[in-house]
Amino acid sequence: MKLKIAIQKSGRLNEDSIRLLKECGIEFNNGLNKLKAEAYNFPLEVFLLRDDDIPQYVEDGVADIGIVGENVLIEKSKKVKIVDHLGFGKCRLSIAIPKDKKYKSVKDLKGKRIATSYPVILDKYLKKNGVKAEIHEISGSVEIAPGIGLADAICDLVSSGSTLFTNGLKEVEVMFKSEAVLIANKGLNKEQQKILDKLMFRIHSVRKAKNTKYILLNAPNNKLDAICKILPGMKSPTILPLAKKGWSSIHSVLNENDFWDIIENLKAHGAEGILVVPIEKMII
Ligand code: ATP
Ligand code: MG
Repeated sequence: MKLKIAIQKSGRLNEDSIRLLKECGIEFNNGLNKLKAEAYNFPLEVFLLRDDDIPQYVEDGVADIGIVGENVLIEKSKKVKIVDHLGFGKCRLSIAIPKDKKYKSVKDLKGKRIATSYPVILDKYLKKNGVKAEIHEISGSVEIAPGIGLADAICDLVSSGSTLFTNGLKEVEVMFKSEAVLIANKGLNKEQQKILDKLMFRIHSVRKAKNTKYILLNAPNNKLDAICKILPGMKSPTILPLAKKGWSSIHSVLNENDFWDIIENLKAHGAEGILVVPIEKMII
């Protein structure tokens, strides 16, 4: 029995999806133009597809699970289960207009032509805000639509905003924020669920490790109490004596988010020779 996973064949989610599986220790040969690959060391079969098709394939059970942007999932309105958010492919679905146009509120979009590849989400958004506008569905290069006179506004994915900027557009509404999600067919059998659980365990270990750093530092023994209070550790920090009398080495783990605050605090409390190293996997 193998679990079938659908991931994007090429594009913005492809690399991160493959990296995630590889970091989970799953090896497969994803050579050029391959549509299917079998993992050598995990009961997984990988399908490489257009991202638009992934929700449908997972709903139908052609693939058991898949990795896709939440934006695509919602647009396609398929009946699948979101198993987890994966922390990559972050972007927002926004409305943008030419930067010299005035804009006060979403009501200003009334009667306007809006070009988008996300007609379903846009329609819902406009209805929710009581705005009637014309939706022009186009499948790509949405950002040039105002420039060529096809539309007055666009609704498209934005991450840094540089594409909007180069096309003379400004972001006026953020409709929703998206990231890659792991989705699953709703009718997985026991065996498939077991493989998925195994995969999820690995994904969590990898993701936890990514957000965490291993830290080593030296400190005089009379500062140990204060420093240990700053460093929570998994259970508690490890303290080892240094060869130099009166000094110890402290080992612990840190959350990436609190990282700089804690480092400054440690230095202020007498820590020296601070080393911070990445963790590959973290099993708690
Ligand atoms: P496909 O050929 O598979 O249909 P695509 O051209 O539709 O690919 P990509 O542009 O590769 O899709 O984007 C895939 C996903 O990456 C998006 O649906 C979105 O979830 C995410 N993403 C992250 N940042 C951005 C961005 N700046 N612009 C577009 N998509 C982004
Ligand atoms: Mg697509």
